[in-house]
Amino acid sequence: MDLKENIIAVNSRIAEAANRTGRSPEDIKLVVVTKTRSISIIESAIDFGIKYIGENRVQEAKQKIPLLQDKINEFHFIGHLQTNKIRKLLALKPDLIHSIDNLKTATKLNDHMLELGLIQEILIQVNTSGEDTKSGVEPDLAIGLVKNVSSLSNIKIMGLMTIGLLTSNQSRIRDCFRRLHDLAAEIREKKISNTEMKYLSMGMTDDFEIAIEEGANIVRIGSAIFGPRSY
Ligand SMILES: *Cc1c(COP(=O)(O)O)cnc(C)c1O
Repeated sequence: MDLKENIIAVNSRIAEAANRTGRSPEDIKLVVVTKTRSISIIESAIDFGIKYIGENRVQEAKQKIPLLQDKINEFHFIGHLQTNKIRKLLALKPDLIHSIDNLKTATKLNDHMLELGLIQEILIQVNTSGEDTKSGVEPDLAIGLVKNVSSLSNIKIMGLMTIGLLTSNQSRIRDCFRRLHDLAAEIREKKISNTEMKYLSMGMTDDFEIAIEEGANIVRIGSAIFGPRSY
């Protein structure tokens, strides 16, 4: 595996997909997913220019982020967030939490942010694939959740996140991403206070080009950069 070549290749695939849709490659944020990866390999990736990293488990992030914080621009939390892990996560100062999908977690998060006197930027995770193993609010319930969360004073909704259907059928993957894009447009039209639809976080190693074609401006990529994961 050649880390440097992988990073160059992913960046150029992102740029090509952006150009196909008439957008600039700089408009798309590459969040490099570092779960299961060692500090030393992550540091090498940082040396090769990566700036944003994503972790999906609080426990693992707690071990790694403090060692990396000075070397990265942003830490994104992309995994399912249990309410009893919120405090630990906030100690790591996540720049963006991608994965809020229910009001209970949002309310707890807001309580902690009130205590800290800070605002946390989040995305609402939507289950566009219909797979019941995946987290995310049902698309039909997403606008209701956005409205409820938008009333919380110390949380700011910055957009939506989804995980595409795990399938080789490209048009079904595309449908998931289109659904998220359309949902964001619908929410934007409603001009809900305290809510911006600035980010669409969608696309991983196997589907990020489709996601960019459908409007993603954050992609979350692990394996295409570091190789297959072994747990
Ligand atoms: C692991 C993970 C990714 C990255 O997956 P790859 O297929 O390795 O690119 C992206 N998003 C989430 C939420 C993940 O948990």
